[in-house]
Amino acid sequence: MDSTLIVEPAAWLVIAESSKSAFPEECCGFIFGRMSADQTKVVTAMTVSNATAADKNDYFAISPATYTEAESYAEDNQLELIGIYHSHPNQIALPSISDYQFALPDFLYLIVSVIETEIEDVRAWLIDEEYDRFNEQRLQLV
Ligand SMILES: [Zn+2]
Repeated sequence: MDSTLIVEPAAWLVIAESSKSAFPEECCGFIFGRMSADQTKVVTAMTVSNATAADKNDYFAISPATYTEAESYAEDNQLELIGIYHSHPNQIALPSISDYQFALPDFLYLIVSVIETEIEDVRAWLIDEEYDRFNEQRLQLV
């Protein structure tokens, strides 16, 4: 995919609020929207619980049942499940080692850097087909 990711205000509000309120833990959720040849538009976001058994300040996980719920939500609302957002409390918005380990193909990863409860940066990433490199995607908050 080589297109711009556009995040609409309603979706960004959900992502920003959950990133700030989860601090110092990582938040996570799904992003939904519509895709065309030259752009992908995120119209809504769904916050889900961080199901990691590890330290929530450094890791996140989403349960399989929650993925199924997200797929149903997309279908019911005629939206596409575009990817996942999660926050990096007091860390930069670059994929971590565990982000590499758990990355899914064709799934956009929106990473929000939150420094002391304030949003510092947000970046969008897509893993390549060999799973060895996240390529940064053009991102636009509208
Ligand atoms: Zn991460």
